[in-house]
Amino acid sequence: MPRPICATIHLSALKHNYQIARQHAGSAKVWAVVKANAYGHGLHFALQAFDDADGLALVEVDGAIKIRQSGWNKPVLLLEGFFHADDLPLVVQHQIDVAVHCDEQIALLEQAGFAPSDVIQVHLKVNGGMNRLGFKPDAVAAAFQRLSAISAVQVVELMMHFANADDPSNANLPLAEQLRQFEQARSTVHHSGLQISLANSAANLLDTPPVNDWVRAGIMLYGGSSGKESAATFGLLPAMTLASELIAIQHIAAGESVGYGSRYVAAKAMKIGVVACGYADGYPRHAADGTPVLVNGVRTVMVGRVSMDMITVDVTDIPDARVGSVVTLWGQGLPIDDVARAADTIGYELMCAVAQRVQLVAGD
Ligand SMILES: *Cc1c(COP(=O)(O)O)cnc(C)c1O
Repeated sequence: MPRPICATIHLSALKHNYQIARQHAGSAKVWAVVKANAYGHGLHFALQAFDDADGLALVEVDGAIKIRQSGWNKPVLLLEGFFHADDLPLVVQHQIDVAVHCDEQIALLEQAGFAPSDVIQVHLKVNGGMNRLGFKPDAVAAAFQRLSAISAVQVVELMMHFANADDPSNANLPLAEQLRQFEQARSTVHHSGLQISLANSAANLLDTPPVNDWVRAGIMLYGGSSGKESAATFGLLPAMTLASELIAIQHIAAGESVGYGSRYVAAKAMKIGVVACGYADGYPRHAADGTPVLVNGVRTVMVGRVSMDMITVDVTDIPDARVGSVVTLWGQGLPIDDVARAADTIGYELMCAVAQRVQLVAGD
């Protein structure tokens, strides 16, 4: 028997969340973003659940090839493009679209020596002020021209990523300023039929989302929050339930402590449950005392430091808690974002960090 910890992936929730992304996207098409093993949910499950998606987007070349080998024949997009010259034959062979965000990538395309029948669809990335990837607006026209001169290349789209879609009036870089930068870039490229892709989950969920042809939906598909509002506000459902079991019970007296560093000291007599889940499973080591957890469906709190393979929880007021009781770390009944907040992180990080030793199992 494996250790009791397991992550149930709710395929129906993934499908439901995709439909919500669709509704908010209006007439735009939807890239289901499946990078990082579908945000920890398993690429194979994402492929099953997102069969209706218009395309799949990710950053891993090997993942993109796996998607093709699974028989997916709609678009696949590498959001950071290719990394090395040897990626290019694979990208051409498997008809994988690529973002192009820098001159070095264009140089690799120019030097590639494509065959006359080779085709590679390029999504030209605009840096609208986030200053990670992309060409600044005044460099976009030159990049477009260089790309257009390469026989195999078809530039199909201009794309941009928002720094602050979860905080549109951000003082350092308002969303409207990024849109202005994008429009400036777009006005320099004279090519009819060029599509545009702007919105991540947070932008797609704005009351007035930016107008674009392709939405790139990530976190919302997995039922996580992309900003200040909870995922439930938008009717999104948790797509992963991480659950384990109590493997021991300790009765402690007032003044006794729990775990490494003896961080938690009981103020009264307590019953402590020991859960088979630790940071080596992906549970955040920085989770504070008071981080929520469900035991037999009852909400209680974690106490004491997170260890590699265990956490300890307060089950004083859960009389039926015993060895074998089910413990929900996050998911159905306990929003992942509540746990993330208590660990000073975001739901995205928790999902992506679920460790390899945790089995992913399909569930409803
Ligand atoms: C990851 C990613 C997304 C998805 O972002 P969410 O906030 O998860 O919706 C969209 N666009 C790009 C370029 C990305 O890398």
